Amino acid sequence: MIIGVPKEIKTHENRVALLPGGVIKMKRNGHDVLIEKGAGEGSGFSDEQYREAGAEIINDVDKLWDKAEMIMKVKEPIEVEYDRMKEGQIIFTYFHFAASRQLTEAVKESGAVAIAYETVEKEDGSLPLLIPMSEVAGRMASQEGAKYLEKPEGGLGILLGGIPGVKPANVLVIGGGIVGVNAAKIAAGMGANTTIMDISMPRLRHLDDIMSRNVNTVFSSEANIRKMLPDVDMVIGAVLIPGAKAPSLITRDMLADMQKGSVLVDVAIDQGGCFETSKPTTHDNPIYEVDGIVHYCVANMPGAVPRTSTLGLTNVTLPYAVDIANKGWEKALKDDEELLKGLNIVGGDVVYKEVAEAFNMDY
Ligand code: NAD
Repeated sequence: MIIGVPKEIKTHENRVALLPGGVIKMKRNGHDVLIEKGAGEGSGFSDEQYREAGAEIINDVDKLWDKAEMIMKVKEPIEVEYDRMKEGQIIFTYFHFAASRQLTEAVKESGAVAIAYETVEKEDGSLPLLIPMSEVAGRMASQEGAKYLEKPEGGLGILLGGIPGVKPANVLVIGGGIVGVNAAKIAAGMGANTTIMDISMPRLRHLDDIMSRNVNTVFSSEANIRKMLPDVDMVIGAVLIPGAKAPSLITRDMLADMQKGSVLVDVAIDQGGCFETSKPTTHDNPIYEVDGIVHYCVANMPGAVPRTSTLGLTNVTLPYAVDIANKGWEKALKDDEELLKGLNIVGGDVVYKEVAEAFNMDY
C-alpha cells in the first residue's frame, strides 16, 4: 500500500503521524511511504532521517494526497484539505466529527474511508488512542500549575514542594481518571500535599492502593470541595462524563473562599470545563484571572510538547496502521473489533451512531 503523511497545518500543531522508525516498519511490511517535506520538523525529525528510513520526501502536498492509498495524520483535515480527500482513500487520524458538521459533510462527499483515532475502543470501554494524550495533559497540568503559582506569573508565590522547615503546597485534583492520576503523580512527586477526588469508589480504592503516601483520596461532592478550597493552592480539573459536557464543580461564588493568587488548571476545558469561570485559552495566551484566581484553560495541552506527544501517539497508532496497510481496511476491521469501532464514515455513509445523531443524519 502507498502511505502518505502530510505536514500538519492546523495552527500550532507540530506533531507528526509517523516516525522514521514507523517508515522502516512499513517498508519491511512491503509498503511505500510518502512524507511531505518538513512534516517531522516540529517534532524533531528531519527529512534526512525519513529518507534514510526509506521514505520518499514529497514537496507537492497535492501529489502526496493524490498518490496515497492511506493518509496518516494527527488532526482532522481542515478546509484546504477537503478537496484532497478522494473516494476509497483511507484516512487514519483524529477527526472528532461530532464537533463539526462541515467536516462530516466534506468527508461524506469525498467518499473516503474515515477511521478516527478517538473512537477506536477496547472491550473494557477504554480509548487506547486517546490515553497517551490524557497522560501528557495530566502530567503537564501540575507542571504548568506549578509555574503559575510563581509570583511573577500572578500566582501566590509558593514552591510546590516547600523546603525543609516550610510546608509544601496543597494540590486538589478533581477526577481520578487518566488525567487526574498523572497530574497527581507529578504534583506528589514534586512534594505537594495532594488530594484526588472522584465519584467512583472503586476508582478511589484503586488510587488509595497505588499512589504515594502524600496523596489522599476524598469522595467528590460539593460539600467536600467547598471544605477544601480555603486551604488549597492549586486545583486541577480532570473530570469526564463520557459524551456529556463537564459539570461545573467550582462555581464563581466559590472563588471567594480561595486564596488570591491560587491557581485553577481546567484540563476538562475541551469538554466545556469543570469550573464555572473557565473559558478556553491557547498556548500563546494561556492564563487569565477571575476574582484574583489564576485560570489556565488550554484546550490542546499536548501541543506544547510535540516531541513527547508524537512519540506517545505513534507508539499506539502504528500497530493499527500496519494492520490496515497489510490487510486492507475491510479485512483489518473485520478481524479487529477495536479498530472497527474507529470506522466513522465510509463511501459517503456515516456509520458511527453518535456522529449521525449529532447532525440528525441517516445511520
Ligand atoms: P477519564 O474518563 O479517564 O477520567 C475521568 C474521571 O472523572 C473518572 O474517574 C470519573 O469517575 C471522574 N468524574 C466524573 N464526574 C466527577 C465528579 N463530579 N467529581 C469527580 N470526579 C468525577 O478521563 P481522562 O482521560 O482523565 O480525561 C479527563 C478530561 O481531560 C476530559 O475532559 C478530557 O477530554 C480532557 N483532556 C483535555 C486535554 C487538554 O489538552 N486540555 C487533553 C487530554 C484530555
